[in-house]
Amino acid sequence: ARACEQYPAQCIVDLKALRDNMRHLVDVVGGPESKTAVMGVVKADAYGHGLIPAALAALAGGATWLGTAQSHEALLLRQAGIGPDRCHILTWVYNGRNVPFDKLIENDIDISIGSKAGIEAAAEAARKVGKTARVHVKVDSGFGRNGFTEETFDAALKRFVELSHEGVFHIVGQWSHLAVADSPDVPEFVASTDRQIEHFNAFTARMEKAGIAPEIRHLANTAATLDRPEIHFELTRPGIGLYGYEPDPAMGTPSTWDLKPAMTLQAQLGTVKHVEAGHGISYGRTYLTPDDTSTAIVPIGYADGIHRSASGFDMQGAKHVQKTGGPVRVMTNEGPKVYHVSGRVCMDQFMIDLHGKCEDLNVHEGDTVVLFGPGRGEDHAEPTADDWARAAGTISYEIFTCLRNRIPRLYL
Ligand code: PLP
Repeated sequence: ARACEQYPAQCIVDLKALRDNMRHLVDVVGGPESKTAVMGVVKADAYGHGLIPAALAALAGGATWLGTAQSHEALLLRQAGIGPDRCHILTWVYNGRNVPFDKLIENDIDISIGSKAGIEAAAEAARKVGKTARVHVKVDSGFGRNGFTEETFDAALKRFVELSHEGVFHIVGQWSHLAVADSPDVPEFVASTDRQIEHFNAFTARMEKAGIAPEIRHLANTAATLDRPEIHFELTRPGIGLYGYEPDPAMGTPSTWDLKPAMTLQAQLGTVKHVEAGHGISYGRTYLTPDDTSTAIVPIGYADGIHRSASGFDMQGAKHVQKTGGPVRVMTNEGPKVYHVSGRVCMDQFMIDLHGKCEDLNVHEGDTVVLFGPGRGEDHAEPTADDWARAAGTISYEIFTCLRNRIPRLYL
């Protein structure tokens, strides 16, 4: 708690927002009684929101599954007391070696298998543990990442049939991941998702023909959960929606979908001081103050996960071209105002140009400023992680997941 008090920034996570977002996603698939269940995707430390608190909030909101990419996070969930009576857990990123399949199987964690090496490693672990492994067969329906391809599927099916008959595997599910479901307005992308669905169904038909019909099929991420009811099947896997964001801001604002961003990132200002016109700010002098002004230091930087690419300029050859840097909401005498990163983001801090005199604006060292939050301040001026994503040329997912743990997480 002391470290928390001493750090000049905080990442505040609204657990009620997480719970309400999950409730909403459960409603979207037909409510708690629907044949479709919802998995809270809590990989990568719950997209930077904190694995265990976010997982508990997702369960309180009606999720009956949790999903992580890395197996150690799935094990952490079970170690935190989230038992198999509470929810299923699926984990899916393995390299075929050094995978704790035995621990996963012992802890009733469902495993995804999408390669020949994965089949044999998981079968060996299940035999060693003396327990049937719950397996989700991963197929590559067009994403080009994990999963069996049409070419490798027959040989895999043969092994899945044998191992099911031996009681080594229980084939619980068949699943895949969508590449462009977040662009429902782009006809080529809609067609591409349609093709992925066709391929997915063709894989199902081959499984059924081989006599191992999957009980649970799942394909939908947040975008498809919100926008493609025809592929909700028995389970959907929203991640970003749980945290209150759209996969692509072009799909609408969070409020279009009744979601609320759960994370607020705030900091307490460092030095606030007068600077004359034409003063270079930060490394490379990429920002020159246009007028007599005051600058303020926001005491977090790229070592905290603030993107240096949100520094507010592009390079064209050797030339700096100004663009809008990451935004910060500051309370002033004249009401809340949004300022932008001025000059390069440094390792532990960045500067903002207040475009005025700090004493006129009543802005002081120690004042709390908001980098992003739900975006619904009274003035509607509060920036969101999407604004930072635009400034950094990335997506909100990367804004959250890059935030380092040295910024204390506080839970509401
Ligand atoms: N399923 C898988 C396999 C994923 O890798 C992800 C995240 O990238 C998700 C579901 C959730 O996606 P989203 O956060 O876009 O809802």
